[in-house]
Amino acid sequence: MRSDFPFFRANPDIVYLDSAATSQKPQCVIDSMVDFMTKRNSNVGRSLYPISSEASALVAEAREKAARFINAKPEEIIFTEGTTQALNMVAASVCGTDAKGNIVITRMEHSSNHAPWLEACRRNGIELRLADVDADGILRAEAVTELIDDETIAVSVTGMSNVTGQVTDIGAICSHARRMGALSVVDAAQLVVHNTVDVRTIGCDFLAFSGHKIYGPMGTGVLFASGDSIGRLKPLTVGGGSVERDYSPKTGIHGFEAGTRNIAAIVALGQTFDYLKSNRNAIKNIEDDLSGYLFEKLSVIDGIRMITKSPSQICSFTTGLLGCYDIGAMLGKFGICIRTGSCCAYSLMDALGVQGVCRASVGPYNTKEEIDIFTERLSWVLRRCGGFR
Ligand code: PMP
Repeated sequence: MRSDFPFFRANPDIVYLDSAATSQKPQCVIDSMVDFMTKRNSNVGRSLYPISSEASALVAEAREKAARFINAKPEEIIFTEGTTQALNMVAASVCGTDAKGNIVITRMEHSSNHAPWLEACRRNGIELRLADVDADGILRAEAVTELIDDETIAVSVTGMSNVTGQVTDIGAICSHARRMGALSVVDAAQLVVHNTVDVRTIGCDFLAFSGHKIYGPMGTGVLFASGDSIGRLKPLTVGGGSVERDYSPKTGIHGFEAGTRNIAAIVALGQTFDYLKSNRNAIKNIEDDLSGYLFEKLSVIDGIRMITKSPSQICSFTTGLLGCYDIGAMLGKFGICIRTGSCCAYSLMDALGVQGVCRASVGPYNTKEEIDIFTERLSWVLRRCGGFR
C-alpha cells in the first residue's frame, strides 16, 4: 500500500512512525481535494446554480459515507474540524448552567477529552470524576462504571488510548451509563483508525473522530449524535447556514455547521471513507503483522521499559537515563520520526509516574525494514549515550 502514499516518494529517507499523531494521505484523497478546488469550487447549501448544487450533493454523499463507516444515519453526522472541536461541543452542551450532578472521565484521556470537561465543570460547579488506571496503565471498565451514579450527567471515555494502545471496553461502559440514565460519549480518534466501529453495537450517545488520522485531510472530523440525543447538543458557533429566518438555530445537524466549511476537505474525507472501505482487510493484515514485529523488537532492547503491554499499532516506552526528548531529537537526525513527550495525556503520565514517553506508531504504509532501522538506531543511541550494552 506504500505506493498509494506519495509522501514516501517525496521523502525516501524518512522512517515515519508517528501515524497516531497524523497519518499520511493516499493520492486519491489528495486528488479529490485538488479536483474540487480546480473544477467544482463553489459554496454549498446556498445557491441553486448547477456547480453549487453539485458541491452540495458531494457533501451529502460524504455525509452518507461517514454514516455508513460507523453504522449511523446521515442525519446523525455533524461535520466538525476534528475530535477536539466535537468533544468541546458535547461538553459545553451537556454541562450547561442548568446542569447538576457529575461527569465521569478517566485518567487515560487525551487532553481533548479531559480539558473540555474540566473547563465546563469548573464554570458550572459540576463535579468531575476521574476513573483510575491500574499500575500497568490499563483501564478496566469497572473502574469507570463504579463511579457512575444516578447524578451522573455523562460519561466520556476513549475507545483506544493514544499512549498505550489499549482498546477499552466502551460497549460495557456505554450500556451501564444508559441503564443509569447518563449520556455516553466516546473519543474514537484512535479507535476508528484500526477497528471497525458500529455505534449501534457500542450503544453510545455521542462519538467523535478526526479525518486526519484515517488518511483524510486535516481540519475535518465527525461528531456522531444519536437521533435520541442530538436534542441535548447546543451549537458552539452560530451564523450563516445554521439559523432560521428568526435567527434561532436550525434543528438537527444543520444547526451545528455554521459558516463556510472546508468543503474541498469534506469532499476528500468522503473519498477517504471509500479508500478505507476498499482496503480495510489489507490495512488490518499489514498492521497486525507490523504491530507484533514492533512490539517484539522493542521488548528485547536493553534499557527500555515498555509502557504498552501487548502488541498494538501504538507502542510506547521509556528509556531510563536518557529522556524521551533526547531520544526523539537524536532519532530525528537520522530521519526517524516518533512522538516524544506527554502525548497530551498528562493524567496518564502522572499515573504511570513518568514525565513523558517515546511512542512509535505504525500505519499500512510502513515496513518491517523501517522497524529494523528504528530499533537498530535506538539500540545504538542507548548504547552510546544511555549506559546500556
Ligand atoms: N483523542 C485522542 C485519543 C487523540 O489521539 C487525539 C489526537 N492526538 C485527539 C483526541 C485530538 O484529535 P484532534 O487533534 O484531531 O482534534
